[in-house]
Amino acid sequence: MPDTLSSFIDVAPDSDFPIQNLPFGVFSRPGSSRPHIGVAIGDFVFDCSVAEDLNLFTDESLRSSRPFSDTALNTFMSLGKDSWRSVRARLTDLLNADNPELRDNAEVRSRVLFKRSDARMQLPARVGDYTDFYSSIQHATNVGTMFRGKENALMENWLYLPVGYHGRSSSIVVSGTPVTRPCGQLKAEDKPPVKAPSKLLDIELEMGFFVGPGNNLGDPIDIANAADHIFGMVLVNDWSARDIQKWEYVPLGPFLGKNFATTVSPWVVMMDALEPFRTKNQEQVPEPLPYLQGADKRLYDINLSVTISTRGGGVRDTIIESNARHLYWNVCQQLAHHTVNGCNVRPGDLMASGTISGPEEKSFGSLLERTWRGTKPLQLSNGDERKFLQDGDSIEMSGYCQGDGYRVGFGVAEGTIVPAEIRDRR
Ligand code: MN
Repeated sequence: MPDTLSSFIDVAPDSDFPIQNLPFGVFSRPGSSRPHIGVAIGDFVFDCSVAEDLNLFTDESLRSSRPFSDTALNTFMSLGKDSWRSVRARLTDLLNADNPELRDNAEVRSRVLFKRSDARMQLPARVGDYTDFYSSIQHATNVGTMFRGKENALMENWLYLPVGYHGRSSSIVVSGTPVTRPCGQLKAEDKPPVKAPSKLLDIELEMGFFVGPGNNLGDPIDIANAADHIFGMVLVNDWSARDIQKWEYVPLGPFLGKNFATTVSPWVVMMDALEPFRTKNQEQVPEPLPYLQGADKRLYDINLSVTISTRGGGVRDTIIESNARHLYWNVCQQLAHHTVNGCNVRPGDLMASGTISGPEEKSFGSLLERTWRGTKPLQLSNGDERKFLQDGDSIEMSGYCQGDGYRVGFGVAEGTIVPAEIRDRR
C-alpha cells in the first residue's frame, strides 16, 4: 500500500523531503539577523522559529522551553523523544493536505513557509564532542588487508568492540564549505619527513548521529535505552589525508590527517522518520558481551552514493554506491560502548559510523579502497583518472530510503577541494 499521507505543498516522488521526512535544520533567511530552525518540505522550508513566535506549537512543555528560539538544535535535542514526537506530530498535522489550518491561511503561510533555495544552511548543532567509529567490517578488512595482509586484516579487538577515536568538533563544517588541501608532514621511504600539501587526499563515506539527551558522568547508557538518546542522522564526509595519517598515526591513532575538515549534510533526519527502514543487524560472531546485546533491527536501509565533479571538466560521475545496512556495529551498540566506562555524552555530540563499505568494489566507501591504494585508478567519463583528489574536485554524498511512493532523503554533503596556499609550503 502506498503511503497516503500527503501535504498541500507539492512534493515530487523523488524529492528527499516529503511530509514523511520533515528533517530539521538551522539556516539564515533573507531579512533575518539570527539563525532560525525549521524543517524541509519539498522545495520549501517550514520555519519553526517563526511558528513558535506565533504560538503554533500547542504542547505546553514546548511553550516554556522554547527550543526554536535557540540558534542551533541543541535545546530541542536535549528535550527527548516525547517532545520530538509532539513537534513532529504537530508539523505533520499542520502540513497535511486535509488540514485547512495552514493550507487556507495565506497570511500565516507567507510567514512560516519560504523557498528552500533562499535558506543559507548552517551547522545543525553546536557540536561539543565528535567521535568517529570504524564500524564497517568490509572497510576494516579492506584497510587491514592493504596494510597487514589478508591473514591479519582485522585486529584482535575489532570483533569484540566498536573501535573509535575522538575527532575534533571545531573543524566540522556544513555542506558547501570549501575544503583546503591540508599541509603536514609527509615521509617517503628512506628519507626524512618534509612539510608539504597532502598528495593523497581522500574521502570517507559515513553516516553520523546526533546525541539527544545525554547521561551523567559515571552513568553508562544501557543498550536497552540507547535509542532514546539518539536524535537523528546526517551524511558525513570524513576527509582524510592518507600520507599525513600514515606517518603520524603510530601509536595514538588519527590526528592531523583527519581534523582539517569534516563535512556534514545540513538536514537532520529524525529516527522516527527512519523507523520504516530499520533492518536486521549483521550476524555477530563471536557473540558480543552482554552490554552490547539486545538492540534488534538497528541498522537502516539507506542507499548511499558519492559523485565527483572535476574543475571545468563537465564531469559528474557516480564513483561509489553503498548502503548503511552494511555496518557491523549499530548505533545503539556504539552509544552503549562509548559510555560503558561512565563517559558522558551531551546533546549535539556527533557520532560518525566510520567508512561504510559493502562487499562489491563499487560499494567501497573511500578512494583508498576504490583504487586499492592508488594501484587501480578510477576512469572518469571525460578520460581523466583519479587515484586521490585533485584541486577543484567536488565531492557530493547523498542518501535516501525508498518508501512506497516516497523517499526519505538526506540531501547532500558537498565539499570542493581548494589548493593549499603556496606560502604554507615553508
Ligand atoms: Mn572516518
